[in-house]
Amino acid sequence: MLELAIIGGGPAGITAGLYACRGGLKDVVMFDMGMPGGQITQSSEIENYPGVKEVKSGLDFMQDWLPQAEHFGLKFEMSAVDKITKNHDGSFKVSFLDGSSQDAISVIVATGSVPKRGGFEGEGEFFGRGVSTCATCDGFFYKGKEVVVLGGGDSALEEAHYLAKICKKVYLVHRRDSFRAAPSTVERVKRTENIELILNASVKKVFGDAMGVSGVELDTKDGIRTLDVPGIFVFVGRNVNNGVLKQEDGSYLCELAQSGEIKVDLKMRTNVAGLFAAGDVRSDAARQVVCAAADGAVAALEAISYVDNFKGGH
Ligand SMILES: Cc1cc2nc3c(=O)[nH]c(=O)nc-3n(C[C@H](O)[C@H](O)[C@H](O)COP(=O)(O)OP(=O)(O)OC[C@H]3O[C@@H](n4cnc5c(N)ncnc54)[C@H](O)[C@@H]3O)c2cc1C
Repeated sequence: MLELAIIGGGPAGITAGLYACRGGLKDVVMFDMGMPGGQITQSSEIENYPGVKEVKSGLDFMQDWLPQAEHFGLKFEMSAVDKITKNHDGSFKVSFLDGSSQDAISVIVATGSVPKRGGFEGEGEFFGRGVSTCATCDGFFYKGKEVVVLGGGDSALEEAHYLAKICKKVYLVHRRDSFRAAPSTVERVKRTENIELILNASVKKVFGDAMGVSGVELDTKDGIRTLDVPGIFVFVGRNVNNGVLKQEDGSYLCELAQSGEIKVDLKMRTNVAGLFAAGDVRSDAARQVVCAAADGAVAALEAISYVDNFKGGH
């Protein structure tokens, strides 16, 4: 039986592995369906990780994370996890898509979440070159410039407000005439002078050249409107990778937030003893590498004491 199974090999999962092994846990295995590194490996540059002054690609940035954790005993297996269930003795069964399974005393779920796409022309072509899904990551690149934000929920409005502090102007485009976001957030956005609301409108396409986006074409109730902007931020929801928690009867192994994110306390504990969540998949995550890594460390420290107690009681 493993002492700890970590599901997901992004910044949260690898850091959890590093702290768990260095903290003395034995038989710790991290499972990822692909190469470890997580979604930051899709990024062409990361410049906000403390202490790393040189701007690197996400792939280069993550290069040493797994070898460092392996040095302390973390094992990595490339396997897609299908589901996690609870055994009668309080341990967990981790089942894989190939039909095999492994038991573990504790489990850290670090499977991340993926932003949904807006579905407009040019979105894929210009992703990372003017099309972004993260204001904290990319907002700074548009300092003093004009940008479009697409969406009408809490994230879209909060990110529009964040960008308005950095950018010259933010066009907030939403397909309805009212917002789903909290009324206080809507009021704050309406009071912000450099945010222009464009309602009952959708993004038709983004266009540009080899340098990146140079404009966005909108379909509005008054016809086509073109905005000459170098960036568009898409906040139309997220797919939370919580499928591994789904049980045979359709329920989830632990409590989830309404958004589908895994509810945790400040120690990354779910409401099921021995089951932890870390990184972008947990509720109220800041969705940054530094925060995911910190979550992984906290979850691992908690898993160490859980495993100690579990072994003491058996
Ligand atoms: C383009 C882009 C640019 C970004 N730029 C920045 C930036 O500049 N600064 C910053 O701090 N953050 C940035 N981020 C955000 C950052 O990448 C995430 O916050 C961070 O990667 C979250 O880490 P995580 O470990 O929680 O999840 P992830 O990195 O999403 O890792 C989850 C891992 O779980 C695996 N997984 C999922 N389901 C299963 C399963 N069923 N079985 C096995 N494995 C599974 C996935 O393959 C993945 O490797 C950016 C993100 C993107 C996409």
